[in-house]
Amino acid sequence: MNWTEIRNDFPLLAADPELVYLDSAATTQKPRQVIDAVRRYYEQDNANPLRGLYELSQRATEVYENAREAVRRFIGAESAEEIIFTRNATESLNLVGYSYGSLLKPGDEILVSVMEHHSNLIPWQQAAQRTGAVLRFIECNEEGEITEEAFRAALTDKTRIVAMTQVSNVLGAQNDIKKFAALAHEAGAVFVCDGAQSVPHMPVDVRALGVDFLAFSGHKMCAPMGIGVLYGRRELLERMPPFLFGGEMIEYVTREGATWAELPHKFEAGTVNASGAVGLAASIEYYERIGFENITAREEELGAAAFNALTGIPHLHLLGAKTAKAHHGIFTFTLDGAHPHDISEILSADKVCVRAGHHCAQVLMQHMKTPSTARVSLAFYNTEAEIARLAESLSTVRRRLGHAE
Ligand code: PMP
Repeated sequence: MNWTEIRNDFPLLAADPELVYLDSAATTQKPRQVIDAVRRYYEQDNANPLRGLYELSQRATEVYENAREAVRRFIGAESAEEIIFTRNATESLNLVGYSYGSLLKPGDEILVSVMEHHSNLIPWQQAAQRTGAVLRFIECNEEGEITEEAFRAALTDKTRIVAMTQVSNVLGAQNDIKKFAALAHEAGAVFVCDGAQSVPHMPVDVRALGVDFLAFSGHKMCAPMGIGVLYGRRELLERMPPFLFGGEMIEYVTREGATWAELPHKFEAGTVNASGAVGLAASIEYYERIGFENITAREEELGAAAFNALTGIPHLHLLGAKTAKAHHGIFTFTLDGAHPHDISEILSADKVCVRAGHHCAQVLMQHMKTPSTARVSLAFYNTEAEIARLAESLSTVRRRLGHAE
């Protein structure tokens, strides 16, 4: 695989060889192939899908539904009707929290881990408040690992929902979703998996993992912003009430009420994001052309280089696991005597983009007793030279803030 050519597929990166973009966990850059697919949609196929009977509208419907089929194949779902297009992982998780959450009874338990992104925490806090269910937490250790023991300790015969991320956006730690989903099922609970940080980096097969719901965002996997996915097992989606109401999600409407459209349209109210779906299908095609075996191997290679570079910097403290591989390209750290916002600003002066703050995971930050951190996150289009630039810039931060080396 020619990784220099791959980097050049990304117009924003190709236009500025000096730019070091290390914030792909927030959003990835977009390859030409995706940008072209979106432009082609608007130049050749645009109409309101699912509505018109004329040929152009039917073409728009066809490309939109083909995109749904591409997602189905990509995550191994049984049927395209189990794929709901949303705006992002946040909306997908809100949909489950609101709709499946409405089936909860007082005293039922919802289980989340301490490492959840706010998007997979607050919808459950709200569901608990609305229904009288109880929200409970699964702890992780210093390395960011959730042990089977910790999981079993939190699971009870009242647990109805377990919601957990596959990969932490702060620690990069990967949870054993297959094992935890099986344990949740044994206890009679459904398993909601947040795949925002896993789907872009590893093959994720919903049936092999045994999850009931999977949420992810297109924009973290080279697709446009504004398109996301909720996979749900058909039997569950059919039992759930709609989340949003309006056009396209109905079967029949009278003055008094309405009946709902079949899946997946019951959950897709209003005009859909067809160009986003087309862009997501193009990004899936782009991933499949490179191949996950190559993507994962390249990201592991870059991850090892970043791990070695960061752990070689004096006064730097990396959160989470002590091995490169366990970080899945996500490295969150503090540097003695430097606020993470200062780190990010100083690096920015050297054209190195890293994230600083609580990373929408304040419960984890409280658990780790660290209010704010800096984060480097990689994608396959990064290079070893960029990691060297990161290390070079980071090693000057303390001096630039007036500390003795
Ligand atoms: N879950 C995780 C683990 C994430 O990292 C993110 C994005 N930072 C989200 C959910 C939410 O994604 P979005 O903002 O695209 O909805």
